[in-house]
Amino acid sequence: MTPQHGIGMTSLRTRERLIQRLKDQGIRDARVLDRIRNVPRHLFMDEALSTRAYEDTALPIGLGQTISQPYVVARMTEAATIGAPKRVLEIGTGCGYQTAVLAPLVGHVYTIERLAPLLDKARERLATMGIDNVSFRHGDGYAGWPEEAPFDAIIVTAAPEVIPKALLEQLAENGRLVLPVGPDGSQELLRVTRRGKEYVRERIGFVSFVPLVSGVA
Ligand code: SAH
Repeated sequence: MTPQHGIGMTSLRTRERLIQRLKDQGIRDARVLDRIRNVPRHLFMDEALSTRAYEDTALPIGLGQTISQPYVVARMTEAATIGAPKRVLEIGTGCGYQTAVLAPLVGHVYTIERLAPLLDKARERLATMGIDNVSFRHGDGYAGWPEEAPFDAIIVTAAPEVIPKALLEQLAENGRLVLPVGPDGSQELLRVTRRGKEYVRERIGFVSFVPLVSGVA
């Protein structure tokens, strides 16, 4: 039995335990729960940490960044995918876990990451998994992706202190922006929906993300 097979086997029970926990915490969308059940989270992190892959916790992935907590990924995916969006922008690809959960539920994902080594690895992982409706960009998510706008949904997986204006401008009519906003350690997850000239805000809950940083590296 290969080590990978080994973790796959152990993970069956631990994955079900994770799904139950997400249900207990209010995740209702069966398609989102199915994605969390089926995406092999242990392949998105260092092997040394992979025994913890199905815990409901964020974990380090190097370069000072993290793989998001499954509950938060599920919550954001639920909030962003109501109404089966066609074009989705994601800021902060990181290891690509959120991208992998999201991509089969939508038409196409445009994902931006400022750290090239993370982006390259994420691109490889998703190709290996046969996920082919994702475009990758090495760039600064503060600017969005104007050439591909407007978007039916935008997910931001790092926290700015205020909502970036470019992202509001790149929302389609009835499009929604799901993002954490606030200073380090006390951020609120928001969903902002564009209705004509209005932007309607809903508060989803408190979260803890790495900061959205300007510029590329
Ligand atoms: N989505 C990931 C978690 C990403 S952590 C997951 O599924 O686990 C946040 C990521 O946002 C980091 O990789 C960080 O480098 C990236 N990031 C921070 N500021 C950014 C910016 N301005 N533009 C694009 N990516 C950014």
